[in-house]
Amino acid sequence: VLAEQIEHIKESKAFDIRSEALPTWCPGCGYFGIHQGLNACIQELEIPHHQIVTVSGIGCAGRYPFFTSTYGLHTVHGRTLPVATGVKAGNPDLTVYVIGGDGDGLAIGGGHFPHVCRRNVNINYLMFDNSIYGLTKGQPSPSSPLGTKTKASPFGTQDKPLNATLMALTYGASFIARLFAGDPKGITEAVKEGTRHEGFAFFHIYSTCLTFDKTFKTWANLKKWVHPVPEDHDPTDFKKAFELVLNDDYATGIIFRRTHTDTVKK
Ligand code: SF4
Ligand code: MG
Repeated sequence: VLAEQIEHIKESKAFDIRSEALPTWCPGCGYFGIHQGLNACIQELEIPHHQIVTVSGIGCAGRYPFFTSTYGLHTVHGRTLPVATGVKAGNPDLTVYVIGGDGDGLAIGGGHFPHVCRRNVNINYLMFDNSIYGLTKGQPSPSSPLGTKTKASPFGTQDKPLNATLMALTYGASFIARLFAGDPKGITEAVKEGTRHEGFAFFHIYSTCLTFDKTFKTWANLKKWVHPVPEDHDPTDFKKAFELVLNDDYATGIIFRRTHTDTVKK
């Protein structure tokens, strides 16, 4: 089966970024859907491999560059954003995708998030948010809900969760989408738009860790909770975007886009 899969990848279309190193994620992990969505985006935008850099931190999402045939950097924990900023500053022609989890981006790397937003660095940040530390076997993360019970928090967590979409809005990010790993097509469309956006694009992607989270962000719950942003949502209206995010944790789609940077590269 492995040989067949590798053969399939070799024969697949140009601009396909899947590498011969097949993902080692647990079968059924939400990350497969995100990989599928991003891969389709790159194929549709026809970005050559040598013009793409994926930059990751530590965690299950951190392995991403190994599974792609683009350039890639597997950096240290929480330092994806400054490294990616350096890559883009060094060669502005590159398309940069930052890949990281909720632990990597909201805990150890949380201090970099406001600054990449306010600097409006022209990179794309995909936060794979499953509300758990998967690679280290299931500790609560900064986006785990209050009372989350794990081996590391047997009596339930005492800390309120962080809301990455709300944070990005507050920090002044110029493009924000909230997405769902179970909807690769939605990911493709939003990441295409964000990649074309001249400025920082943040994608808050709800995912599932089916190995270590049996109660909260399960496939069944996420499928029940996630729904598209209202049809009349105007992503260029900051107040409306703020109101939406304050009142609805699971509306997915383009949440906010700042008009004066909303130019298309082509
Ligand atoms: Fe995915 Fe969780 Fe397995 Fe990591 S531990 S690969 S997040 S299912
Ligand atoms: Mg995580």
